[in-house]
Amino acid sequence: MERVKFLNVKIDNCSMDEALEYACTLVEKKQNAFVVTPNVDHLVLLEKNEPLRKAYDQADLILADGMPIIWFSKLFKTPIKEKISGSDFLPKLCAVAAKKQYKMFFLGAAKGVAELAAKKLMACYSGLQVVGCYSPSIGFEKKEEEMEMIDSLLKEAKPDILVVALGCPKQEILICENRNRWNIPLSLGVGASLDFVAGCVKRAPKWMSRMGMEWFYRVLQEPRRMFGRYFIRDSRFIALLWKYRKQK
Ligand code: UDP
Repeated sequence: MERVKFLNVKIDNCSMDEALEYACTLVEKKQNAFVVTPNVDHLVLLEKNEPLRKAYDQADLILADGMPIIWFSKLFKTPIKEKISGSDFLPKLCAVAAKKQYKMFFLGAAKGVAELAAKKLMACYSGLQVVGCYSPSIGFEKKEEEMEMIDSLLKEAKPDILVVALGCPKQEILICENRNRWNIPLSLGVGASLDFVAGCVKRAPKWMSRMGMEWFYRVLQEPRRMFGRYFIRDSRFIALLWKYRKQK
């Protein structure tokens, strides 16, 4: 798969179908691989977050999540062919998992959300096996007891695919730091995707997403939390475009 450099990341230049096919190859290989889905916010965080940088450097499949990445990749003459957001990738991966009998485990999201999402996905894709769900407490990654509990849940459930819904950078760092211990063929961070599937958070309509306005819809839904992320933190994306303008 062709990997192109765009600003401060490398992105796999693939279509949705190619990404799904490669994800299956990674499951079959059983080498504790993981998927990341960079968007503008991730790129901004990557500049200063060393553990996130490390996770990105080790990721096996890197998918462009967001229209701004597609637009600017064209402007920078490193065109990426398709936007593949985690929220679009997850249901398609579930469909493939149902067919191939890959077992899935959902880690993250608020209490009850992962279970509800699992129920909806299993109703949608016949044969899909979500073999476990767990919603960790706040700060769980620093609690030895809870981490041990997660270890044993995963060991017992033996999933082929681990879906981690904790937001960036937590999910990417957690996967990267624990993947060899957990020994799960494929893991991926999906942010708020389980909330979308469960119906707890509404996703932007398709036309808005195509226009690259999905972020704005999220600001309207959760103004307090999202304002800081998109209007303050992510305004640094402009500086990033300037910094990397002469790349290649
Ligand atoms: N979350 C969680 N535990 C945490 C932090 C976040 O379960 O310690 C969940 C949260 O409930 C939500 C998801 O992580 O379901 C991430 O949401 P966010 O909106 O940050 O994700 P993104 O914008 O990356 O899609």
